[in-house]
Amino acid sequence: MADDIFCKIIRGEVPCYKVYEDEQVLAFLDVSQTTRGHTLVVSKTHYDNFLATPQEVMHKVMDVAQRIGQVQIKMLGAEGVNIISNVYEAAGQSVMHFHVHVIPRYTNDTGLVIEMKNNSEGLNLPALAELIKIE
Ligand code: AMP
Repeated sequence: MADDIFCKIIRGEVPCYKVYEDEQVLAFLDVSQTTRGHTLVVSKTHYDNFLATPQEVMHKVMDVAQRIGQVQIKMLGAEGVNIISNVYEAAGQSVMHFHVHVIPRYTNDTGLVIEMKNNSEGLNLPALAELIKIE
């Protein structure tokens, strides 16, 4: 049985500040508030990450993430929201249990720096698209 920190929270062995719960999904405040209201949405059944999660469960988690983002805008005065799910250590995943970060954003907040650089130079984009293409 998986025994990561989110499994312990789901089993009630570790406390959390809960914001939503149903049979399949739990949402609670991230202990490390990147910005005010930073919330984690997790599947109650253990899957290692977003890519390993069955579509039906993933849809339920994303549905809750969307609703929490809407409430963050309405109730916290957030002006934007970042929805992030890190997959594997190379992408910054530290808890190997599928979760989605819902991070409210405020103009000029300093909590999260996302810089998507343009590294397109030298890439063969038509060939790259072929490699990634799905049916
Ligand atoms: P990630 O690095 O994407 O795997 O995200 C894991 C998140 O879990 C981090 O933002 C942590 O701050 C958060 N976290 C770890 N332990 C707890 C906990 N006991 N309660 C709430 N959030 C936690």
